[in-house]
Amino acid sequence: MKVLVPVKRVVDYNIKVRVKSDGSGVDITNVKMSMNPFDEIAVEEAVRLKEAGVATEVIAVSAGVTQAQETLRTALAIGADRAILIESDEDLQPLAVAKLLGALVDKEQPQLVILGKQAIDDDSNQTGQMLAALAKLPQATFASKVTVADGRAQVTREVDGGLETLSLSLPAVVTTDLRLNEPRYVTLPNIMKAKKKPLETVKPADLGVDVSPRLKTLKVVEPPKRGAGVKVPDVATLVDKLKNEAKVL
Ligand code: AMP
Repeated sequence: MKVLVPVKRVVDYNIKVRVKSDGSGVDITNVKMSMNPFDEIAVEEAVRLKEAGVATEVIAVSAGVTQAQETLRTALAIGADRAILIESDEDLQPLAVAKLLGALVDKEQPQLVILGKQAIDDDSNQTGQMLAALAKLPQATFASKVTVADGRAQVTREVDGGLETLSLSLPAVVTTDLRLNEPRYVTLPNIMKAKKKPLETVKPADLGVDVSPRLKTLKVVEPPKRGAGVKVPDVATLVDKLKNEAKVL
């Protein structure tokens, strides 16, 4: 069973991004970039399926600039077998990525595609759902547990009221939630091994996909600054302030 894992290169989660002065977006020049954390969880899950003898091959794929190769090497170091870079300098929006992944699903015929539930840069939470629709595959989003047996995947999902378990026929699309697993640390020997694993590069045109943006960003602004807090001497003053100053009681 082949598992395809899309991984996105995003601004590292520890970085506080700055809005560009012209409000056209955030400034990512010289900023540390890493694999999207939910995608690390997706790679870990796929590798665990391989270690359990359920999956036979784990393929990592990233769509983006040349440097996304580094993200793919990280996926290979976690344990993916090979990688595909869909190289493009365009601003790749979720629909374009979903179409690219759809073309790869046609080509590679994976039984399972495991994506992150969302990319922490655009917070779209759309690509997995769009891919499932385009490729006409069943989907289970926000997975906190995945088991595969007898041509089906059982996926426990985190929903508002608690947990829901779905049974999907394969091939299927799954997106990961935070509690699915804890990704392993990448060791130096595995980083070295990853350098020798195959990494193929294709262009969107090779997959017959038009990736031109469909959405236009009008304006990006910083959130308003929080004012300084005040200390109150006792509960009575607090209640009084909440009632008469903040007017929230
Ligand atoms: P989003 O819909 O942008 O929040 O992204 C959801 C998931 O789609 C991510 O966690 C990745 O697994 C996948 N994804 C999004 N963009 C890319 C990309 N450029 N390359 C590879 N995977 C992507």
